[in-house]
Amino acid sequence: MKENSVLATIYENICRDTGRQNESAKLIAVVRLLTLTMLLHSVVCCVLVSITGHIGALVFSLSSSVLFLAAFVLSYHWSTFASYCVLNICILFWTCMNVYCFGWNIGIQHFLVVLLVFVFFCKYKHELHKILFAAALFVLRLFLYYYCISHEPIIILAENIANALQMVNTFFVFFALGQVAYLFSTTTQEMEGKLIEYNRKLMKQANTDTLTGLYNRRRTMEYLENLLHAADSQISICICDIDHFKRVNDTYGHNVGDVVLKTISETFQKRLPPDTFVSRWGGEEFLLIFPRLNGDEAITALETLRQKIREITFDGGTERFTISLTYGLVEYDYHSDITTLLKEADEKLYIGKEGGRDRIVF
Ligand code: GH3
Ligand code: MG
Ligand code: MG
Repeated sequence: MKENSVLATIYENICRDTGRQNESAKLIAVVRLLTLTMLLHSVVCCVLVSITGHIGALVFSLSSSVLFLAAFVLSYHWSTFASYCVLNICILFWTCMNVYCFGWNIGIQHFLVVLLVFVFFCKYKHELHKILFAAALFVLRLFLYYYCISHEPIIILAENIANALQMVNTFFVFFALGQVAYLFSTTTQEMEGKLIEYNRKLMKQANTDTLTGLYNRRRTMEYLENLLHAADSQISICICDIDHFKRVNDTYGHNVGDVVLKTISETFQKRLPPDTFVSRWGGEEFLLIFPRLNGDEAITALETLRQKIREITFDGGTERFTISLTYGLVEYDYHSDITTLLKEADEKLYIGKEGGRDRIVF
């Protein structure tokens, strides 16, 4: 428990914002973590070279520790951008000095790759700056390599200690790289996830009716256009309308009317074949599209639905009541356009209303 709170405090301190406006809280946390990693690396090197008793190497590693400790402390006082620049300069300078002192074999030059990744993830620099920086790192690495070919290192380490440093450096390069890539990629993935979710919600809002959750008229037209365009099986379309719905509102109130609309919508979704496209076409009018049923099959499905709806009793407050719908059904003939089909279905609905309601007209 105590351990947890110590870790939490360390984490909070590393992530502490600079408090300046328009500064990335994530970047300063990554700068601090990377600085701490470099500091830890220098401390490990101190321990390693002190075992060998090599004074020059020890002084170098101690100076590196002080350099990164100072960069870490200053990150709490400077702006994110300044801390970011200082860290870049420190790593660049430190890498060059390491190569100059210890030569090529301890693998310190790989820290240039950490810088490359760090700069590409960072938002401060524009694309061109990033590419120029990458090119500069490439040239620097080549320069260091050819320098090492023609110059002996200042400090010659014993083979075993050079090998140990190679291992330590490899570990810290992977650790630092992984850290930078992980921290920045999680932000990108989080953002992407949020955008996808936001987009999904927007799409849903644009396509559905808020009261009933059914598809709205806009989405229905889109669906119908695509369906008729690629029609390879029979399609039936039905417009249905609640009978005497005005009476329901007038007698039991608008809220009860809303409950009726929602209940009817749920019944459509539960009782019709699963691939039926159900939409709220207007106030108390619905459009049902059966993408694989001919007229006769659609009548069977609608008849079951009609009976189920007739069985529902609604709570009107003072009394319970039932409702019915009238259905106008058409079958797609493979050449009519949407307007004609809908007009035909509407005419059938009108005939049903005239004929006494609560019926399917085909
Ligand atoms: P008919 O059998 O001829 O269809 O008669 P009707 O009363 O159902 O038709 P009318 O067009 O006269 O009335 C429709 C009513 O539907 C009027 C309107 O207030 C109501 N309505 C439309 N949208 C909603 C809604 O979202 N909620 C509620 N509660 N009522 C609605
Ligand atoms: Mg009506
Ligand atoms: Mg109506």
